[in-house]
Amino acid sequence: MPLVVVEHPLLQDVLARLRDRRTGSEEFRRLAHHATLLLVAAATSDLAVTPGEVETPLERAGVRLLATRIVAVPVLRAGLGMLEAFLDLVPGAQVGYFGLERDENTAVARCYYEKVPADLGSAVVFLLDPMLATGGSAAMAVEGLRSRGARDVRLVSVVAAPEGVSRLAAAEPDVRVFTAALDRALDVRKYILPGLGDFGDRLFGT
Ligand code: URA
Repeated sequence: MPLVVVEHPLLQDVLARLRDRRTGSEEFRRLAHHATLLLVAAATSDLAVTPGEVETPLERAGVRLLATRIVAVPVLRAGLGMLEAFLDLVPGAQVGYFGLERDENTAVARCYYEKVPADLGSAVVFLLDPMLATGGSAAMAVEGLRSRGARDVRLVSVVAAPEGVSRLAAAEPDVRVFTAALDRALDVRKYILPGLGDFGDRLFGT
């Protein structure tokens, strides 16, 4: 499975502040937005474009226009912190949702909500899930997308753990993962180390 660690200095600076335990929710939300903009720019860099023409104030210009149907699927709830930034960059994207919750004791994911657009085979699907930890919820979400025909699926995550990358690669070798960091490991509670804590809690102040 291709793993792309986006090393852009602006993204790494944002990540440093996301990791910092002193960063409060308001700032965390803003930083999550900025991180997503930079990650999505990388994850969309090979999308198909089609030639066109526009009239500038001076003359006609050859241009390239996005020629790809795009679907964004945030994984609830932490993925919601990435959706607005995604739509800032791709306002025409369709949006689906996966509600996945991990059991606090077993860390096993459970799907409690699912609503995605039809005919995913004709779209590039971007799964927005900021923490690729065990890979269980990502694999479950990709399986759900595949059952609706999705072929080109890309996972945009802020931090990934080796365990999650391996598990997703074994289950879904064609999914490309774009992340700001490949961290060291998971702890006993399946939190990423060094990570940034619970993304959803820090985002929503819970
Ligand atoms: N989810 C989080 O929010 N943080 C982790 O470290 C792992 C999963």
